[in-house]
Amino acid sequence: MLDTSALFYFPSLLDAELWTTELIVNEVKDDIEREIVKRMIENRDLLIGSAPLESIKKVIAIASELSEIHKLSKADLSLLALSLYLKEKGKNVILLTDDYAMQNVALHLKINVSSISGKSITHRIAWEFYCPACRKTISNFRVKECPICGTPLKRKPKTKEPL
Ligand SMILES: [Zn+2]
Repeated sequence: MLDTSALFYFPSLLDAELWTTELIVNEVKDDIEREIVKRMIENRDLLIGSAPLESIKKVIAIASELSEIHKLSKADLSLLALSLYLKEKGKNVILLTDDYAMQNVALHLKINVSSISGKSITHRIAWEFYCPACRKTISNFRVKECPICGTPLKRKPKTKEPL
């Protein structure tokens, strides 16, 4: 399971199926990189999958609950959903990504994650939003500004469990 940064790192190194999604592939902008990806797909070194709506909904729900939803692109969500789907199909899935928001959501979905750079998160994190001016905490992740004083909200970990 690969996000864009991982696409060029592993190819033949892993004795495993490499899966990604169409949306992730579309994020590859560099011409040479696009050519490499195209060839990997043609050779079936890289498999393209898509998750059913049900898996996407599950990922969106947990990402919202964790307040990570704004940090994730559609492509990120598609990859998380595919990871979840393949895991539920009984595959031994490892999500390769350096993105902390993706790692956090994956861990809550009990998907194994591995980073490319070695910078993995060490804790499962639940976020909460707070106003840096008046200190009010806000649990509604859709709110961007403090309802009392209008200051843009910041976020901090609400709970942090070591992995
Ligand atoms: Zn405030």
